[in-house]
Amino acid sequence: MEESTSITTTTALRLKNKIAIVTGGASGIGEATARLFAEEGARMVVIADIQDKLGKEVAASIGGERCSYFHCDVAEEDEVQSLMCIRDRRCSYFHCDVAEEDEVQSLMCIRDRRCSYFHCDVAEEDEVQSLVQSTVKAYGQLDIMFSNAGIGSLSKQTVVELDMSQLDKLFTVNVRGMAACVKHAARAMVEGRVRGSIVCTGSVAGCYGSPIGSDYVMSKHAVLGLMRSASMQLAEHGIRVNCVSPNGLATPLTCKLIGMNEEEAREVFRKFARLQGVVLTPKHVADAALFLVSDDSAFVTGLDLMVDGGYSL
Ligand code: NAD
Repeated sequence: MEESTSITTTTALRLKNKIAIVTGGASGIGEATARLFAEEGARMVVIADIQDKLGKEVAASIGGERCSYFHCDVAEEDEVQSLMCIRDRRCSYFHCDVAEEDEVQSLMCIRDRRCSYFHCDVAEEDEVQSLVQSTVKAYGQLDIMFSNAGIGSLSKQTVVELDMSQLDKLFTVNVRGMAACVKHAARAMVEGRVRGSIVCTGSVAGCYGSPIGSDYVMSKHAVLGLMRSASMQLAEHGIRVNCVSPNGLATPLTCKLIGMNEEEAREVFRKFARLQGVVLTPKHVADAALFLVSDDSAFVTGLDLMVDGGYSL
């Protein structure tokens, strides 16, 4: 009996029926996380971003389309069975040769995906409020907020040369935007009596000083303060708040900042990790975020989960 219970637990979808928002979900860490949340059975993943075209494309590729084509010879029972497996999808084409078992397995994994796109500049509180309110109105409640949208430091930004207008711009997104997302998600969860989970994307830059990028380092320290205060204040409602804090990794954000393509950037960041034989990718960060939003971390709140291959040791 115990054995069958444990098998069920390990194979169950971890976010079954959950409603999730992923800010900054059009690219990098957010995109990987939106995909993973959908794969883990979330009823709806709302991607919130300012890159509308890309965001809509990502949402559609995860499962937000309205029509699909599936090759099926009705004389072949196997093909009809495969077709039945995707009957709940709202849209999409997925190439699948039913003679290839791995292709059929991939098809099975995506049959229940749901994802949508919502334009939201997190620097604008009314847009964040509207994102959360429309999500609750459309899907009934909000279970998960992955507050991930952020920007990098564009110049060296040493303290003696600090460009205050650049600092304001960065804080408006990385700190004010993050706070607005936590605030409105928490309100919706408290009002809806949902024992939800909020995860903010911090950074190892939130724990240490740095020779450059003072504005970015300050902003990520602030995210930790936000997460710790919110986790204390929301615990009485059963709402958990945590951070996932990666070290440097190749994403469109960092590739643009350092002027390299993804492969070159990966090589640069490989050197930052103590852990050898693995290079940090957005999927690693998404896996950590999944842990924090799922019941696998049901008694974890106020944690800054470093995803840094031992760099900060
Ligand atoms: P990315 O640029 O690939 O993705 C960030 C997304 O946020 C983009 O789609 C962008 O359009 C969106 N965004 C930016 N400003 C926004 C706004 N005002 N409102 C809504 N969306 C906005 O970058 P990424 O590397 O995936 O970064 C995601 C998070 O991870 C950020 O908070 C970043 O600080 C953090 N982080 C990144 C690294 C790294 O090395 N890449 C390391 C540590 C932490």
